Amino acid sequence: MKPRVGMFAFTCCEGCGLAVIECENELLDVLSLIDLVEWREGLSEKANPPELEIALVEGSISTHADEQKLKAIRERAKVLVALGACAHTGGLNALKNRYGMNQVKQMVYGEAGAQFDTIPARPLSAVVPVDLFLPGCPIDRTEFLSVVRDVALGKAPRLPDYPLCVECKKKENVCVFFQGRFCMGPVVRAGCGAICPTHGDGCEACRGLVSHPNEQAHKETLAEHGLKVDEVLMHFNMFNSYQEDQPA
Ligand code: SF4
Ligand code: SF4
Ligand code: SF4
Repeated sequence: MKPRVGMFAFTCCEGCGLAVIECENELLDVLSLIDLVEWREGLSEKANPPELEIALVEGSISTHADEQKLKAIRERAKVLVALGACAHTGGLNALKNRYGMNQVKQMVYGEAGAQFDTIPARPLSAVVPVDLFLPGCPIDRTEFLSVVRDVALGKAPRLPDYPLCVECKKKENVCVFFQGRFCMGPVVRAGCGAICPTHGDGCEACRGLVSHPNEQAHKETLAEHGLKVDEVLMHFNMFNSYQEDQPA
């Protein structure tokens, strides 16, 4: 029997789900290995089997209802995969945690804000155990297909765990530091093909850090180019403020 797979979304733009839809023909190849039974964004049929072999979950957890729904998915799923920066690191959503929740509600909804449930945004792993994560905002389609294929075949997927600079150098890009920009590439997990530096922008760390980032080397690179850590932190925090705000 093919593994039953469900896809779920919490607080996010659902761009990672869209990236999956955009896999098009290659998605059809993966569908020969899995039985995709539940996915609001991508399926017209509705199923709600009591057990799933794989749950693919995008979005961060930012309401009490999200918390309860995620726990229920965790109970049903043998393998739970966090899809994209919102689910993996808390992503952009965690920026709101730097304000009071009442202030956030007032800013967005005015007087009507009081009726909305909102709590500080968290990555999935802050609420339930997560077996695997697929980083990025959005996820990389090739990486998604490869990870789902591996999990469906019972193999352990392996994500790149070396800095983005390696991919960037292989592409023979001119380093953006020499163009007066900053970049998080020396400490960020590779796997996106260094897409931002390839198009002339610095990396803002949507894939999170490598397991053992050489922070000292990055600080030295920043210093060589006249930059201080504090000056680049706001860019790093775009996708990683949840981790940055946790007590050491
Ligand atoms: S990680 Fe990015 S693309 Fe994916 S759901 Fe979150 S905001 Fe959207
Ligand atoms: S542009 Fe960024 S990723 Fe590329 S080599 Fe420079 S620091 Fe590394
Ligand atoms: S270069 Fe950095 S910010 Fe851009 S997609 Fe890759 S990890 Fe994300």
